[in-house]
Formats: sequence, structure tokens, C-alpha cells
Amino acid sequence: MKRYFRAWALAIVLCVILIGNGAGAQESTGSALSVHVVQRGENLFRIALQYGLFAEDLAKANGISDSDAIAIGQRLIIPLAVEPIQPLQSHTVSAGESLASIAAAYDKTIADLMTLNDLTSADVIYVGQVLTIESGSAAVDATQAESPPELVPTADTGAGQRHSFSRVGDLPADFVHVVQSGETLSAIGLRYNQTINALAQANGLLDPSFLSIGQRLIVPGIQLPRLTLPSPAAVTSFTIDPLVFEAGRSGRIELLTSEPVVVSGQFLGRELVVIERDAGRRHNMLIGIPMFTDMNVYPLTLQVRDQSGQSSAVSATLQVISGGYGRQQITINDSELLAPAVEEAEIALIRRLTERFTSLQSWSNSLSLPAAAPINAVFGTLRSYNGSPFDRYHGGVDFAGAPGTSVLAAADGTVVMVDRLQIRGITTLIDHGWGLYTLYAHQDETLVETGAAVAGGQVIGAIGSTGRSTGPHLHWEAWLNGVNVDPMQWVQEVFP
Ligand SMILES: [Zn+2]
Repeated sequence: MKRYFRAWALAIVLCVILIGNGAGAQESTGSALSVHVVQRGENLFRIALQYGLFAEDLAKANGISDSDAIAIGQRLIIPLAVEPIQPLQSHTVSAGESLASIAAAYDKTIADLMTLNDLTSADVIYVGQVLTIESGSAAVDATQAESPPELVPTADTGAGQRHSFSRVGDLPADFVHVVQSGETLSAIGLRYNQTINALAQANGLLDPSFLSIGQRLIVPGIQLPRLTLPSPAAVTSFTIDPLVFEAGRSGRIELLTSEPVVVSGQFLGRELVVIERDAGRRHNMLIGIPMFTDMNVYPLTLQVRDQSGQSSAVSATLQVISGGYGRQQITINDSELLAPAVEEAEIALIRRLTERFTSLQSWSNSLSLPAAAPINAVFGTLRSYNGSPFDRYHGGVDFAGAPGTSVLAAADGTVVMVDRLQIRGITTLIDHGWGLYTLYAHQDETLVETGAAVAGGQVIGAIGSTGRSTGPHLHWEAWLNGVNVDPMQWVQEVFP
């Protein structure tokens, strides 16, 4: 077993797909392998909670149909993207570390760590294991007795704060971030462009290193959506989710009307794609926020035209934040790899295909993972090559599967491209309808043809190392109306 994990830890796969102002080039991924070994007394729900996941996501990622049927010692893939910045209250075990060395590093005893992590033996830790160093309750700052204002978001999913407000508007006064597993104050600050001091001050934190999972933090300087014009009488509900949009992620807007109307809209200089349902009474917009969108407050404008041809406008302001992605500095010798033309041409091709809108929605739930393999590079990591600015990023999620491992369609859809591309190698692009597409790169072989209808979970190819890749892995991308977005959000949430 030990050899197995060592092999995993050493399997550093280099992925070369980047999107940005320049070319794709070589990268060395920070090995964000995350595997959890089931300990005595744990159940799926509790493990999921520990990683800020839903039990059903964890079950799905591991192909578990009966959530009661997990065994002590079973290894579970943790599907959530691991934060690139190491948290203070947890520690990921590296090669050569022992429980004793970790305990010493954090000024803890071995017994403390064994209790906190339900370890039955001090010898059972393994590379990649995430150990809790501070328990949530113990880390609660005593000054938090005076709790922040109570809000009523319908989902406590970090920045995924949801709020539906009526025509008059009944928004909370402050934006609240719910602390997720593995987050630090500096990571939260990076995401919202706030200093640690500003966050600590706004929340009365005496010690910024003491955060607990689920703690609610007021984020100063974040402007909540604001209706800037009275909305037309026909509009009965206007939902923006989340309240603050994030670069590289997807957001949604829903407008309900009492009578059939036609809605059009614009945001970030683009015409919005409006999905009309319920005979013109329900209007959904799925919006991909391009990476490198400047952190700012932007106008959203909607036009509502009723059956008599009368048109009226709704407009709101929406803040976009940077998302706080990790950074990597990479040095490469082969300057040819930095040539931007090839990557730009590939991106242009994918963008052109994914801007096509199919009005039939093929997915019915969240996306499923495209391979039974650990994730070893997350979406969005900003990259600098040979000292250049951080103007490129990793445009997909990498799955470090052995060559030949099945590549699975993430949802029902239609294959719109199968091709051998210079950088992405053997690539399949699937249209899931309503502007959503998924892409599968570096495959060894493909089992589908353009035009084929595929079902979610269907084997469409095999993991390989074709194209500009230095080791076998699946590079998985998502595109929404021609904008490259984080596919893991679609695994963790159900759209619209
Ligand atoms: Zn990749």
C-alpha cells in the first residue's frame, strides 16, 4: 500500500494547456492530490463536512451508491479543488513527514493530532492526507461572542451566497463570507481584494489565524447588487446568484414575470443569452465571467417587452471579484513553447464552437466527474513564465489517471468536435445545451464521432498524453456561451 501512495505522489503530470494573453507552455503542477482514508467512527456525511462538500458529491466522485457501505481504511477521492494556499488549521502530509514532526511544527502533541483526526495509530498517516491541526470549535475567537448580523441566504456555500429580492429590494447591508474548510484569512482577503487587517477589523478578530469552518465574516468594501431603476410591474421576482460574481466562475440570474414577456440583457459588454421557460414567464441567464475581468462594479441591464410591445428596463449593479486563484512561477528553457499563436488559434476555435447556443437543456443535475482519477491541478492557477506577468492561467482541471483509464461524458449531450489539436491532442467537445460545453483533452483514443449523442457517464475515450503533454492525464474544461469557466463549480452546484 505504501508503495502505491509513493507512486501517486511521484506521478507529477505536466499539463500544458493554458489560456491567457499568451501561449500555452509547460507547467509543473503543485501536487494537489487529496485522498481521505476512512477512519473508525467516520461516515460519509462527516467526511464530506470536513472538506466542505455534500455527502452526495463525495459519493458520486467515488462511485458509491450506498452511503452506508464505506469501510475503515477505504480510500476516498476528495473531489473539491484543494486551496493552493496551505491553511493554518490543517496540514497536508508531505513525503518524509511523521506525525511527530508535524505535531512539533505546530506545537502540538501526537495525542492531540490523533484525537483531532480520529487516528487509531500514529503510523498510519500517508502523503497527501489532510490533517486537522486546530479543531473548529477550539479555534473560535472569544471576541466573536457578539455575532455578526444575521442574514438569510438560502445556501451557505462560501461566496455562493444566494439572495432573491423583490421589486422593492430587501438586500442585506453587508456581504458575508462563510469560512470553508482549508481557508485562511489571507486567502479570503486575496479573493475579495481585502487586506488581512481590513477583514480582522471589520469582524473584530484579535488573532487572524483563528478561523473556524462555518464562521461568518463580513467582507468590507464589497458592494451588493443594487437595482438602479424601478423594475416593470410585470416582474415578480429577480434572483442573482451568487451576490458577487467571480472571475472564471459562473453566475445566474432569474427573472419571473406575471405575464409572458420577452427579456434581453447586457453585462460586461456582452449580449446575454436568455433562456425562456414557462411560456415566457421564467427567464434564466447563465453567465460565465471571463478570467482577468477587473475587480469592479458593473452595470447589468435588462429590457422587458410585454405582449403589447411596451418595453421597460430593469438595471442593477453587480460586483465582480478576482476569485483569489493561486499563482505559479515557471521557468522553461524551450522558448518555442511560449509562442502564443498556436494556443490562440486553438482557443479561438473552441470559443467559436462554444458560442453556439442549443436551446435544449441536456443536463438535469450537476455534472459528474469525467474520470475516476485524482485531481492534481485545479482551474484558474495564474502563471508567470520566465518572469513574465501573471497573464495566463490553467483553463481546466487535470485528472492524473493511468494511460487507458476511461474518459466519461460529464452529462448527456451531443459531440460537436473530435479532433487532434496541436496542444490539446485528441480532444472531444460535447454540447450539453443552454450554452454549456465540456472538453476532454490529451486523450489516447476517442470512441465517439462528431454528431454522436452521448449519455452522462458514457465512456467516450481513454486517458493519454497526446498533444503538448508530458505525462498521461485528462485535462477537462468547461465553456459557457464561449467563456472558459471552472468545471468544478458545475460538479458542486446544480444549474440553473
Ligand atoms: Zn490541464
